[in-house]
Amino acid sequence: WKMPVEEFDVVVAGGGPAGSTVATLVAMQGHRVLLLEKETFPRYQIGESLLPSTVHGVCRMLGVSDELAAAGFPVKRGGTFRWGARPEPWTFSFAVSPLMNGPTSFAYQVERARFDEILLRNAQRKGVDVREGCSVTGVIEGDERITGVRYTDPDGGEHEVSARFVVDASGNKSRLYSQVGGVRNYSEFFRSLALFGYFENGKRLPEPYSGNILSVAFDSGWFWYIPLSDTMTSVGAVVRREMAEKIQGDREKALQALIAECPLISDYLADARRITTGRYGELRVRKDYSYHQTSYWRPGMILVGDAACFVDPVFSSGVHLATYSALLAARSINSVLAEDLDEKTALSEFEARYRREYGVFYEFLVSFYQMNVNEESYFWQAKKVTNNKHTEIESFVELIGGVSSGEAALATAGRIAERSAEFAAAVDQMAASADGNMVPMYKSEVVKQVMQEGGQVQMKAVLGADAEPELPLFPGGLVVSPDGMKWLPYRPA
Ligand code: FAD
Repeated sequence: WKMPVEEFDVVVAGGGPAGSTVATLVAMQGHRVLLLEKETFPRYQIGESLLPSTVHGVCRMLGVSDELAAAGFPVKRGGTFRWGARPEPWTFSFAVSPLMNGPTSFAYQVERARFDEILLRNAQRKGVDVREGCSVTGVIEGDERITGVRYTDPDGGEHEVSARFVVDASGNKSRLYSQVGGVRNYSEFFRSLALFGYFENGKRLPEPYSGNILSVAFDSGWFWYIPLSDTMTSVGAVVRREMAEKIQGDREKALQALIAECPLISDYLADARRITTGRYGELRVRKDYSYHQTSYWRPGMILVGDAACFVDPVFSSGVHLATYSALLAARSINSVLAEDLDEKTALSEFEARYRREYGVFYEFLVSFYQMNVNEESYFWQAKKVTNNKHTEIESFVELIGGVSSGEAALATAGRIAERSAEFAAAVDQMAASADGNMVPMYKSEVVKQVMQEGGQVQMKAVLGADAEPELPLFPGGLVVSPDGMKWLPYRPA
C-alpha cells in the first residue's frame, strides 16, 4: 500500500513574504494551495525596512492592513542619509509635501519574525494549507514540465505532492531554484559583506523622523541603523569586498572596530548596549547575496523573491521585490487556472515585469553608490522642473512621492492619470536638462516606467475597480484586471 499522492493547484516552497503573498493571492481566488515551510514560525530573518508599496499596495490586497497597523511597528516616514559628497546628513520623507501628505505616505520598520508570521497566519486564514517544519527536498519532473515536489515532514516522513504549479519562494538558500533552468549570476558590482546585530537604547533621530532608516557611509562601506521599537535598533555594517578582512575573526571586535570608524553611528550608539541573548543575541554575517537567475520560470515552475534575485540592502528593495514578484506570479497563475490565458502568455508577462523591476533597482542602486555626487543637485533639479514654491528637498520628494505613494492621486481617480503625466513630463525635463551632477537614474527609460508602475500598484489597491484603466507595459503585453488579481488582454477603448 502506498499513500495516494495529494493533489493541489499550487504548491509553494517557503513561507517568507514572497511565499505567503503568492499563496494567499491564489487561494483568495478559490484555488487549492499548499505552502511548505521548513521552519516553525516565528523565525528570524533580516530585511526589516519596508517600502510604502509593500505596506499599502500588496499588504492591503492581502487584507492585513489593520493587523499591521495594530502591531505597533515603528512608522518609517522616509530615510536619512549621510551619503555622497556632503558631510551632513540629509533626509527625504515620503510625504514632506503638503500636496502629498496623506494616508499612504509611510512604511514600517518590522521585526521580520513578527511581520512574516502575520503574513503566514493570514495565508492560513485565507485558505492556504500551511505546513510548518516541512522541508522541500526536490521537484518532480513529468513530461516537459514540473509536476510536484517531495518534502520531509517534522517526523522525518517523506511525501510527494502534485500540483499544476510549483512556486519556489524558499529564499537565497533555495535548494530548488536551479531546476528552473538557466544559471544564478552573481553581481560583479555588489560584492559586499554584511555584519549585523541588535542594540538596546540607541539614540533616535529627531521627530517626526524617529522611525526613519539612517544610512551612513564611511570609508569601509556603510551602516544601516533601523529602529525596531522604542528601544531596540538593528545595526549592520555593509563592508566592501576589498575590506573583507575587517569582518574576519571575532565578530564582536570586528563590529566595535567598524562602529569606531564611523563617528555618527558611534554617537548614536554611545549609550547603547548590544543585545547578547535570544533571537537578537547573535552577530550574523551575510555575503554573496547579490545575484539573479537567468530564467524565472519553466512550464510548471516559477521563482519568486530571493530564490530568483536580490540586489543589495541599500534602499530596502528586498521585501518589495519579493512581494511584488509574488503578486505578478499570482496574477499569472490565477489567469491560467481560470483558463483565461495560456501558461506561456501569462508567465511571459510575469517574467518581463519582474526582470524590469529588478533591472531598475540594480541600475538605480549602482548609481547611488557613486559617493562623489552631491544630493543637492538632485533636489535643485527637482525644484527647477516641478517649478513649485516648496523647498528643494520637498520638491525632490514630491516628484518621487507623487508616483511611489500616489498621495495626491488618492483624492479622485482622475488625479491618477494626471499625476502620472505630470511626473513623466517632469522626469523628461530633468533628463533633458541633465548636467554632470545629474543622477543617472532619471535618464533611464525603464526607471521612469517602473516608478509609474509602482504608483499604479499602490493606487489600484486603494481604489480597487475605480482605478483608471492601464496601458500594457510592453508592446503586445497584458494589463491588470480591475481587481488586481489577474491579467487581461489589452483592448483599447
Ligand atoms: P525569505 O524571507 O528568505 O523566506 C524564505 C523561506 O523559505 C524561509 O522562511 C525559509 O525557512 C524557507 N525555506 C528555505 N528552504 C526551504 C525548503 N527547502 N523547504 C521549505 N521551506 C524552505 N530587504 C528589505 O526589504 N529591507 C531591508 O532593509 C533589507 N535588508 C537586508 C540586509 C541584508 C544584509 C540582506 C542580505 C538582505 C536584506 N534585505 C532587505 C533582503 C530581504 O532579506 C529579502 O529580500 C527577503 O527576506 C526575501 O523574502 P523571501 O520571501 O523571498 O525569502
